[in-house]
Amino acid sequence: MADKKSSTSCSFCGRAKKEVDVLLAGYGGAHICNYCVDQAHQIIKEEFKKKAPATPMLSVLKPSEIKSHLDAYVIGQDDAKKVISVAVYNHFKRINAKESKDEVELDKSNILLVGSTGTGKTLIARTIARILNVPFCIADATVLTEAGYVGEDVESVLVRLLQSAEYDVEAAQRGIVYIDEIDKIARKSDNPSITRDVSGEGVQQALLKLLEGTVANVPPKGGRKHPEQSMVQIDTRNILFICGGAFDGLDKIIKNRISVQTVGFKASEKPALDVENVFKYVQPNDLRKFGLIPEIIGRLPVISYLEPLDKPALRRILTEPRNAIVKQYQKMFTLEGKELEFSDSAIEFIVDKADGLKLGARGLRSIMEAIMLDVMYDLPETKLTKFTIDGAYAEDKFNKTETFKLRIAS
Ligand code: ADP
Repeated sequence: MADKKSSTSCSFCGRAKKEVDVLLAGYGGAHICNYCVDQAHQIIKEEFKKKAPATPMLSVLKPSEIKSHLDAYVIGQDDAKKVISVAVYNHFKRINAKESKDEVELDKSNILLVGSTGTGKTLIARTIARILNVPFCIADATVLTEAGYVGEDVESVLVRLLQSAEYDVEAAQRGIVYIDEIDKIARKSDNPSITRDVSGEGVQQALLKLLEGTVANVPPKGGRKHPEQSMVQIDTRNILFICGGAFDGLDKIIKNRISVQTVGFKASEKPALDVENVFKYVQPNDLRKFGLIPEIIGRLPVISYLEPLDKPALRRILTEPRNAIVKQYQKMFTLEGKELEFSDSAIEFIVDKADGLKLGARGLRSIMEAIMLDVMYDLPETKLTKFTIDGAYAEDKFNKTETFKLRIAS
């Protein structure tokens, strides 16, 4: 008589017990092997995907709701948040209208954000993607090149989006791409380096295709294109592109235009100008002068600006958002069963230093890390349970780190 145990096999694929890694027993003598469990899981995932609404949440959130979600993470920048909330709402309304086969085709409204470094451009794009629960990726325009040149061709952006969508093409096609440093690929007509000029414009041309909507072939699991590799086709028509840049020098172009426009006004009649933030007056023509090609500008119909962050804004960023740096450190201490406080003087010190660095909110984290390094180093071993960081301590630790860095540099 055959050994009952060794004859046990998967009731689905028939594989014998010794051919599989795991064989689960079920009711009535049925069995299932690990391969069939895997396959069943895939099938279920696919089925769920088919049944899921094509645009989850997309029709649900109104501009005011998108903005109030943004408010939880992004401090200030009210104009940008408002403009983007409306643009994003319209973007998904357009997708939904398309699905209902409406005759009136709405144009895609990609977004351009102009603002100095560290003012929250990437944060806004990332937060929007999180709120809407769509795939998101960041690409740096400076590493992109025209096809055929050394560097990444523009389709690599879509590879990254596809990765972020866990290779779900449908989801990727409704995703958001943030293209950073778009200003760095501007054509520089005054630039003596002709080659840089040409490549900048070439990349703009290549990007243009993605922005306006094209079907691009991308290698499925990343990597370089290979003739024998089967490609995944990604339609970019419904992908929302948010481009951002610091646009150094654009302020002068804007100021010049405004001063020309106001020639002839008496000083008392000249419209008041917010000189701290001339980006708020940016117009498409200024961007053309800066070196963006008109076609790209045409594909970025929504333009908004970010304000420079002053000290009160930096202070709020440090303490208020849901994932504020201070809150993150406090959380780390709580996880060790300890308590952390920052005195007002410590916060003031960090804000002052960050303001001096002129890196927007970007400096806050590195300053905080310099100050907290020693405490974090000792934290798991110390018996102390309550810590207060005051201004004098912050300054002392910060200065030590600075000299340390200088010593490394010399
Ligand atoms: P950029 O404008 O250069 O894209 P980022 O969005 O990358 O700047 O900001 C850098 C860091 O500074 C982010 O991690 C974010 O935490 C913080 N930050 C910048 N601006 C803001 C803001 N307005 N509100 C809250 N945090 C901000």
